[in-house]
Amino acid sequence: MKPKKIRIIAHGGAGSENEHSDGTKKAVETCYKEVQKSTSLIHAVSLAVCVLEDDGRYNAGSGSHARANGKIEHDAAIMDSEGCFGAVAAMKGFKNPIQAAKAVSKTKYRILAGEGAAKFAQDLKLEPTHLQNISGGGKDFSTSPTTDTVGCVAFDGTSFVAALSTGGMAGAHYGRVGDVPIIGSGLYAGPDGAVATTGDGEAIMMKITAYRAYELIQKGVSPQSIVDEVINWFPTDAFGLILLSHKGSAGGSNRSMAWSSREFG
Ligand code: ASP
Repeated sequence: MKPKKIRIIAHGGAGSENEHSDGTKKAVETCYKEVQKSTSLIHAVSLAVCVLEDDGRYNAGSGSHARANGKIEHDAAIMDSEGCFGAVAAMKGFKNPIQAAKAVSKTKYRILAGEGAAKFAQDLKLEPTHLQNISGGGKDFSTSPTTDTVGCVAFDGTSFVAALSTGGMAGAHYGRVGDVPIIGSGLYAGPDGAVATTGDGEAIMMKITAYRAYELIQKGVSPQSIVDEVINWFPTDAFGLILLSHKGSAGGSNRSMAWSSREFG
């Protein structure tokens, strides 16, 4: 039997250090191993994002930057090409927000926010984070307005999946929700490909970026040409993206960005 064609890309966010691509490589390998075990692609991608959330060097999960009030809030989302989408927004208190987003995708809801999202995650017994307890005492959180969400896109020969997780823009007002949990803004997956972006969330949202990049995939534009074109939509704001289509894969950013990609099969 011919081995499955698998393509995976992970990023550590626009603004993340290029040298931190050992973390994105680990995420890609984790996703690959899970796909080999015949785990569903959406689950395999969520585990890759967990690796990035647990890394501590990226602005997501354990590495999340604080809001202006010193507290940590997370946005996360996951989508597949079969029409499954789930997200959490401004959620506090959980180690792996991507797991909460994946769980939302299995319900009749598409986005849960704030306290409701936290109660949902608590009811599922998702692992709490230690961050809330040490916020304001012990750990010196960065509140500089840097970016660097984490993301992963994957293709297993049949389905495409895109996922993102972030602590949001450091120093932003609490309750601020960026592009990450907004379908078609931070991410999009469909039968022709998957896109995950990173950078200034407000600018990304206003350009409906991921969906418009997906439309270029549908038109048959090559992955690298899409990356080059879409980066040009952001002449001043921090921006990066990774994408996959039946034609291949590409990624890029207008500043440093840790990212890794692999094709298998
Ligand atoms: N897009 C994210 C946000 O605005 C930040 C990032 O990608 O680094 O919340």
